[in-house]
Amino acid sequence: MTEKISCTELYQKLFHYYGPQGWWPADSDFQMLISAILVQRTNWKNVALALGNLGKNVTAGELIQMEEAELAEKIRPSGFYRMKAKKIRAWLHWFQKYDFQIKEVQKVDQAVLRKELLAIHGIGEETADAMMLYAFDKPGFIADNYAIRLFHRIGFDIPKTYYAFKAKVEDLFPHDLEMHQEFHALIVEHGKQYCKKTPLCESCPLLSHCWTGNEIR
Ligand code: SF4
Repeated sequence: MTEKISCTELYQKLFHYYGPQGWWPADSDFQMLISAILVQRTNWKNVALALGNLGKNVTAGELIQMEEAELAEKIRPSGFYRMKAKKIRAWLHWFQKYDFQIKEVQKVDQAVLRKELLAIHGIGEETADAMMLYAFDKPGFIADNYAIRLFHRIGFDIPKTYYAFKAKVEDLFPHDLEMHQEFHALIVEHGKQYCKKTPLCESCPLLSHCWTGNEIR
């Protein structure tokens, strides 16, 4: 028989098992922001290659001066590179409004900032929420595919839209920046290690709380 698990208990179990993840895996907040676009529809290995081509210390001012074709060539390893170059340039033009100062963006109200990000070409909800959480210090839940898969499997009633799922979890979880940063990273880690497309339930640390795992056994 499985026990129903709350969002906070889920976080605690994952944190206890995997330890702190210290995300996002980038060298600086600016690299984090660029990589949130680069990681769309690819994996981190390809993102790291693209970031390497851009250079560890590249600045927003340098990137906005770069021809779009040159930028696209540098980020080619991340795939969809022409589209991503356009998105990065659109995002940079928005960031320029804040003089490329992350601290200035952090002062913006959370709801207003999310609306601004979503109005930028190529910035969807997942990308906006990742930027908000890991660079702009705004706590929130990222309702990505890893989260949908895990929450569905443990028996959470998932609303139909991205935003409704995000809002539901946020209502049930502390409004705490570090906890949200860790929660997302832990869910991704768990999705890679155990709760894969074909899950490894036998040795999963959540087995006693997961009806799917117990059905499969
Ligand atoms: S028991 Fe299986 S389905 Fe449930 S969380 Fe673990 S890996 Fe995923």
